[in-house]
Amino acid sequence: MKPSGAPQLDFPPVRNGLDYLASVVAHLDESQSGVTPRDVKYAVLHLQAAVEVLLKARLFAEHWTLVFADLNHATPNRRDSADFKSVTTEAAVTRLRNIVGVPISDEEQKALKKLSEDRNKLQHFGFTHDAHAVEVRAAVVLDFLIRFCDEQLVAGLADAEEQRETKAGLRLLREGLGNIESFARERMNRIGAELKDEGVENRTIKCPSCDKLALVLRQSPAGTAPDDWADVATCRYCSELWDTEELVGYFNEHGRPEEITEWNACPQCDSWSLGSGVPVRSNPEKPVFFCFSCAIGFPTVVPCVRCDRPVDGPGVTGAAYCGLCEMYLEDEQRDGPSHESPEDYGYTEEWG
Ligand SMILES: [Zn+2]
Ligand SMILES: [Zn+2]
Ligand SMILES: [Zn+2]
Repeated sequence: MKPSGAPQLDFPPVRNGLDYLASVVAHLDESQSGVTPRDVKYAVLHLQAAVEVLLKARLFAEHWTLVFADLNHATPNRRDSADFKSVTTEAAVTRLRNIVGVPISDEEQKALKKLSEDRNKLQHFGFTHDAHAVEVRAAVVLDFLIRFCDEQLVAGLADAEEQRETKAGLRLLREGLGNIESFARERMNRIGAELKDEGVENRTIKCPSCDKLALVLRQSPAGTAPDDWADVATCRYCSELWDTEELVGYFNEHGRPEEITEWNACPQCDSWSLGSGVPVRSNPEKPVFFCFSCAIGFPTVVPCVRCDRPVDGPGVTGAAYCGLCEMYLEDEQRDGPSHESPEDYGYTEEWG
């Protein structure tokens, strides 16, 4: 992975980063002792510290100016006296992708961004209800960083002894990550069995926060009276809460993203609560249109072939067209193409 001729990496920052990661693993590994909200807090703080140190180490190895927030302020003097504002994590990720050519997926980039947000929130407000969601996200970043060290940092270390030490450290981290992941799997299995027993799999959908099929519609958060929570879904895995409006905005792939319109009208209750492409636990392979008010999926509703508006099954033409598009097609068959465009009259974009 290391481009030929790239400058050598400094060992101290790499060791420093790995030391932070060892602390993260110790805090998140349930096989050592249970994971408390305090554990999650320190895991996040140290994970963010590791992110900053390790990403910067790679940038520095590419060229020392890349760790400056503003490259125009980069001078050897400021570098040597560490007297400068350094690059943000977000900008570091962009530089690693665009300049150094490090493969970082959109998902990993999102997880890194979310982690800095989690860290900031924690520092200012402490935990509210979402320690588990934070823990789940931290595990994603931990996984990324271990791979990042392996592929981007080890080979750049000058000294064979330093390389050996780093590899040994990474091996331990991977073991710890394995424990964390197997506990996560066990937990999800237990939750899956509960959801089945309770008979709520057909109103349990994929959670936008943790991606697990564990977000139960019409579920009050643990320890609260159920009456006031008709509109709320709670994730059994990460404890995140989502209300109907947030869910419709999130699962809106056939509408105009984020914007809730008549296209989101539910065929059953008529409220604008219909989301699309929703993976439901009872049949996750086939995402469906789903009303978050009725807490019910509509497997026969499909997007109109021509305009994407949701329609209930194929119409008289045999294909799924909505009423409007069917009328349009009938007109077109009778009269020939009826579509007029401004260009027909000699307008151009410039004339507006
Ligand atoms: Zn969740
Ligand atoms: Zn409905
Ligand atoms: Zn249509």
